[in-house]
Amino acid sequence: MSTNRKKSSSKKQRTHSILVRLKRLYPDATCSLTYSTPVQLLVATILSAQCTDERVNKVTPELFRQFPDAESLGNAPIEELENLVRSTGFYRNKAKNIKAACQKIVKDFDGKVPQKMEELLQLRGVARKTANVVMAHAFGINAGVTVDTHVGRLSQRLGLTKHEDAVRIERDLMKLLPQADWENWSIRLIYHGRAVCKARNPACEECEIADLCPIGQQISPQNANIDVISSAVR
Ligand code: SF4
Repeated sequence: MSTNRKKSSSKKQRTHSILVRLKRLYPDATCSLTYSTPVQLLVATILSAQCTDERVNKVTPELFRQFPDAESLGNAPIEELENLVRSTGFYRNKAKNIKAACQKIVKDFDGKVPQKMEELLQLRGVARKTANVVMAHAFGINAGVTVDTHVGRLSQRLGLTKHEDAVRIERDLMKLLPQADWENWSIRLIYHGRAVCKARNPACEECEIADLCPIGQQISPQNANIDVISSAVR
């Protein structure tokens, strides 16, 4: 086997080991946004850009009480939408995107969120991250790997990608993970990013996957595993 193929198969094995460990650590991990329908999940996911799910969950009960479906959201006065979503940040843009996406859903998709990636991507304010979340959690379809800020950061720290761009990171992860686990990976990595591998101060000493992470290995060089270090992307 060539050195490159050996390296990529050991990286795949390491990714699988990380996933198994994350499943054990976060057995009940699931999407933390509150919603009752695919349209509401789509809207909540649009609102979650640059905002915590916790904050979004504070805003959506009143938003969905007043405007529960695509038709009412598409017809909602823009100022009212802006006021309701203001605290999630970038509220003008988000309100505009929600209204336009819902109008298109009513006009072109019979009021229902489409279940195809290429159709979801036609909706205003919907990029692959949002489309992947909706496909996975509203329809049970793993169309790709959701790459948010946590997934991007952790995948880089774990040496599984060297890219900064979400689409390229997603492409790398899709090659490393079985399709059935694409959403599993994202959800659990998000949990780990929030709890342990934080943006500013990752708690490597307490990290339960440190033995599978090149950065964790550098912190405890006496336990260094050469496979972990050599399979990391540089
Ligand atoms: S060892 Fe450190 S950098 Fe690696 S995953 Fe754990 S917390 Fe993050």
